[in-house]
Amino acid sequence: MSRLIHIKRKQRILLASLLVGIFIVLTVGLIVKNSIDRNKPTEDRASVSEVSGIPIHEDILPEGSEGRPGIKRKIKYIVIHETANHSEGADAKAHAEYLKSGNSGTTSWHYTVDDHEIYQHIPDSEVAWHAGDKLEEGGGNLNGLSLELCVNDDGSFNRTFDNAAKFTAYLLKEYELSVDDIKQHHDFSGKNCPMTIREKGRWQEFLNLVRQYLA
Ligand SMILES: [Zn+2]
Repeated sequence: MSRLIHIKRKQRILLASLLVGIFIVLTVGLIVKNSIDRNKPTEDRASVSEVSGIPIHEDILPEGSEGRPGIKRKIKYIVIHETANHSEGADAKAHAEYLKSGNSGTTSWHYTVDDHEIYQHIPDSEVAWHAGDKLEEGGGNLNGLSLELCVNDDGSFNRTFDNAAKFTAYLLKEYELSVDDIKQHHDFSGKNCPMTIREKGRWQEFLNLVRQYLA
């Protein structure tokens, strides 16, 4: 009789150990899966020819270009820049030509927005070199989708500003991000960029406009 109790006790211990084991495996598995999902590279959204009436031109740098390292990553931010190029004619198309000429070296970014259209230069899912913070974890290059706003003297900055807000709202929706995920180049490297928006104190106005277009 006591031997039988002893065996039953052993079985219970074995069963309990097995359950604890299964629990640990499932918990660890879930933690690992979540951390993988959090850093899973973002898939490119479906391509579109316009957003809110603004034409979008895909003019992607060839693979292997200096400015296109081809590093896949998860998009966590929209990073706002200005070209700081006040020359007449320095619009989105001109900046697409500039990037394609190779004269920009390793510098690159995803989109240039002007007062009438938008050019794309690097796929959303890939790193571009715009934030001045190399591949820092949590940084602008590794996690940011970058927009350069044109400031050419023969363009309307207010219209560019408005187009950028519309396009940012669209990107936030596409990638399930929030207004808190909109950053300035300045946040990552301390550079005074986007300069006009910063110096004229228009950052909050920009965020509010994006909020308005999201609603
Ligand atoms: Zn910048």
